[in-house]
Amino acid sequence: MRLACPECDLLHESMEITYGHSGYCQRCGAVLFRNHKNSLDKTLAFAITGLVFFLLANIFPILVFKMNGNTEANQLADGALEFLNSGYWPLGILVLFASVIAPLLVLCLLVSILLPLKYNRLPVIPELQIRTLLSLRPWAMAEIFVIGIMVAFVKLGDFAEVGIGGSLISIICMVLAMVLAFVFLDRRTLWQRLDQLK
Ligand SMILES: [Zn+2]
Repeated sequence: MRLACPECDLLHESMEITYGHSGYCQRCGAVLFRNHKNSLDKTLAFAITGLVFFLLANIFPILVFKMNGNTEANQLADGALEFLNSGYWPLGILVLFASVIAPLLVLCLLVSILLPLKYNRLPVIPELQIRTLLSLRPWAMAEIFVIGIMVAFVKLGDFAEVGIGGSLISIICMVLAMVLAFVFLDRRTLWQRLDQLK
């Protein structure tokens, strides 16, 4: 099996290396692959953890406002819906996609690829699932959403009593789980596993 460098496209013959080590490009030094022990199992575990936190993030409010005796709670999707309702629909769609849809799709794709592999079965359409996953990954930017929420928290704090809801903590945990899922995902092991089962 041959591997192309993601930076300079130099082709390398793949070789076995010990667990815990990485393979680097001979020309530019870019990381070709990381050889984590049980790479796919760890990625699967973090993806499922991420999905649980995604659900929690959508159940609990992000921010709770108290003003003039009224209490209002905001959900994860409310920010995006607010943009849509105000007529800023391209921004609304972008925020909704980056903070809700893309992270959900990325986590579901990871599970839909890795769960069958764990039980020695092929995913439904493995190539398409993997390619969609890799192209969606840069769009899953729930972390940016968290920054936006923190800004709102600081600004609104001047004229309303603002409390942080359980959702914000869930989003932070979801982002961490997603980052770790990709840290442990070894694409080489993934393709090898698919080849074995075909
Ligand atoms: Zn290179």
